[in-house]
Amino acid sequence: MSEELTFRDRPINMNEKGARKWVYAKKPSGKWYTRRTILSWILLLFFVGAPFIRINGHPLILLDIANRKFIIFGAIFWAQDTFILALLMLSFVLFVVLFTVTFGRLWCGWACPQTIFLEMVFRKIEFLIEGDYKKRYKLDNGPWTSEKIIKKSSKHAIFIVIAVAMTNTFLMWFIGSEKWLQLIREPISSNLSGFIVMMIISGIFYWIYSFFREQICTMVCLYGRMQGVLLDSKSIMVSYDYVRGEPRGAKSTGDCIDCHQCVSVCPTGIDIRNGTQLECINCTACIDQCNKIMKITEKPPGLIRFDSEEGIKNGHKTTWNARNKAYSAVLVILFSFFIYTLLSRPAVETTILRTPGLLFQENADNTISNLYNIKIVNKTHDKIPLEIRILSHKGEIKMAGSTMDIKDQAMFESTFILLFRKRIKK
Ligand code: SF4
Ligand code: SF4
Repeated sequence: MSEELTFRDRPINMNEKGARKWVYAKKPSGKWYTRRTILSWILLLFFVGAPFIRINGHPLILLDIANRKFIIFGAIFWAQDTFILALLMLSFVLFVVLFTVTFGRLWCGWACPQTIFLEMVFRKIEFLIEGDYKKRYKLDNGPWTSEKIIKKSSKHAIFIVIAVAMTNTFLMWFIGSEKWLQLIREPISSNLSGFIVMMIISGIFYWIYSFFREQICTMVCLYGRMQGVLLDSKSIMVSYDYVRGEPRGAKSTGDCIDCHQCVSVCPTGIDIRNGTQLECINCTACIDQCNKIMKITEKPPGLIRFDSEEGIKNGHKTTWNARNKAYSAVLVILFSFFIYTLLSRPAVETTILRTPGLLFQENADNTISNLYNIKIVNKTHDKIPLEIRILSHKGEIKMAGSTMDIKDQAMFESTFILLFRKRIKK
């Protein structure tokens, strides 16, 4: 059976026996690829630079899971703020859903870390060392010459270095750049288990970007699998204008000359002319490539373009349907609530609980006492001197320790005895 007839039966990067078929994508270029490259460099710069950016001496981003402390754009979130973080995550998921319903899988091609690292870092290095698709195919399927050994070993050596650098950058997002700098100054033997974990994660990254590649998007990614339920005929995505393009062929009346250039440039190896497929990450490489062909054949550009199925069928674009409006309304409400909760949350959060297992004591000096645990979280960037007082009754608090100076972004835990004078019945 030809590829044209089997594309719906099995992934394009798999042969009839179920074995992997390597995708040799052509080097993309064009208006959309340039835009994507610029955005990717901005995002990569943020990824590498964020752990080093500090606001008033504090990190811009820190996801300290071990201490349950998260700093996002300077705002500190503790475990007590899980509600706000859950709200943020919910808003983010809804945003992604709304965005996908309206603009298809734009996230995948333009902002997903997997695509950015694969297409804008690893693939570019591969193009640089091994050349474009035909050269790479020849090299892979040719004998082990000295040229092949040098090219392959230098490529994989660079890939390993980048995988280790990626892992360490991720690590900085979780432990902070200062802690990371301190760790790398210490001998490996003092952090052996951490070092082994770091090397295992680097190995996984290296394997993904060197061998597994686009299969993350086509076979593993859950978001990719959700496209079938999120997209409808009004969703904007990379689409082939079959009304204009068909019947295809060099001598046919349609604008598609069946040159297969859009297929050769696709990083997931699909033919967009077969319609929307889960493998399409909306990278726009085929738009650029087809526009070049349209220029040569002196036809208007946009045979492959961002459009909806309905737009192509009816010759107009539809983006703002009832479903999009409903999603947007929910999103606005959710974000407003999130901002309100964020702005109105207390700078200092205190939890006082009676020490478990202890009952009140009647003392010889005519007082009643009990022991309490106190936990105070300082969510500000300042050191705060605090004291606790009894306002409603006459009594006394005996704190374990003398002062309650709580460092910035720190948690204070202690115990205190609460004493009340017993009322004497007359
Ligand atoms: S690049 Fe354009 S003209 Fe060539 S096969 Fe693809 S859609 Fe047809
Ligand atoms: S079909 Fe086009 S937009 Fe989709 S993944 Fe392939 S090249 Fe990218």
